[in-house]
Amino acid sequence: MRIPFFRPSLDGNEYRYLEEVLASGWLNTAGKTAEFEKRFGDFVGSEYAMAVNSCTAALHLALDALGVGAGDKVLVPSLTFTASAEVIRYLGADPVFLDIDYATGLLTPGIVEEALNQHADVKACIVVHYGGQSACMTTPDDRGIVDLCKKAGVRTVIDAAHAFPASDNYGMVGSIGDITCFSFYANKCITTAEGGMAVTGNSDLAARIRLMRMHGIDRDVWDRFTSKSAKWEYDVAAPGFKYNLSDISSAIGLAQLERAEFFRCERARCAHLYQSLLSKLETIDLVEPRVRSDQHAWHLFPIVVRCGAPISRNELIERLAEDGIGTSVHYKPLHRMTYYRETYHLEEVDFPMTERFWTGCLSLPIYPCLSDEHVEFVASRLVHYLT
Ligand SMILES: *Cc1c(COP(=O)(O)O)cnc(C)c1O
Repeated sequence: MRIPFFRPSLDGNEYRYLEEVLASGWLNTAGKTAEFEKRFGDFVGSEYAMAVNSCTAALHLALDALGVGAGDKVLVPSLTFTASAEVIRYLGADPVFLDIDYATGLLTPGIVEEALNQHADVKACIVVHYGGQSACMTTPDDRGIVDLCKKAGVRTVIDAAHAFPASDNYGMVGSIGDITCFSFYANKCITTAEGGMAVTGNSDLAARIRLMRMHGIDRDVWDRFTSKSAKWEYDVAAPGFKYNLSDISSAIGLAQLERAEFFRCERARCAHLYQSLLSKLETIDLVEPRVRSDQHAWHLFPIVVRCGAPISRNELIERLAEDGIGTSVHYKPLHRMTYYRETYHLEEVDFPMTERFWTGCLSLPIYPCLSDEHVEFVASRLVHYLT
């Protein structure tokens, strides 16, 4: 049996929509992308949705739209992919790395509050919905992360690369905070091969993101070729970027979006089976759910090997690979990465929970075409090595 870490499901309307794009002769950003944006925005309950060519681009444009600039401080967890923090550096701002809650891998209101007290001059906070579940964004007594940031005048950007579709008591991920960014990278919840989406309820932020994703040009090409005014004329309002998404990608995205909830249910099936087969293992910790299962995107299924286990995390990954089982590590934290460690003089002692989590963590295969038999096989090998 060979079980890859991930395999995309592309057996919906992908080919049909791709054919439509190819037949239309218009391959770059046009009608299919406009349709993808409309449907995606409706899906997450956000008024403005801007398609871009990666989640990294979306995060960059989000910080730019919020006015983050040279010397500004931006809060970000250390347990994330480098994209969450590199975009802060794109703008000359400085990341302030935060520890996480060991049980969930998430930022908590307490962690954010402490950072806000320590740093009076924070401009924005990037919240990562690690693994596919929302962090605590708001509470009835206004003690959630977004509540605390609002009170402190700090803007919130949500890195929802793992969290589609996901929800919490406030509604869908994408409906709270200033700007939410999604990823459609090949191994994310839905894919366009490469792609991303920034969503917001604020028309000014949306306009700035639209402008900056296309060279700072005040009219996009599609508009120039479909509207009645002069086709050739455009102005450049700012030195923007080249971050637009092609209709080829959006065609795949539209087909994936139709099945996003089905995909989520299939991942939940895998997660529940893993939970029932692994919950008795005393040598590992499972990530604690803080939302209901039907609110969880179940993008990752991380386990944390405890330090007293009969096998180390690294050895376990090797053994599983020999069994034909692909795994991954999410993440070697950013405070351990050379660039951030040296630039910001970061030390492991300042990230005790991130250290505890990352030292033992590995992510198991979880995706729609992973059968119950596959999950049972992975779990049986884990039980074998960990007891
Ligand atoms: C995948 C990922 C990104 C980057 O997404 P791209 O679409 O590849 O740019 C950002 N943040 C997190 C947490 C991710 O997992």
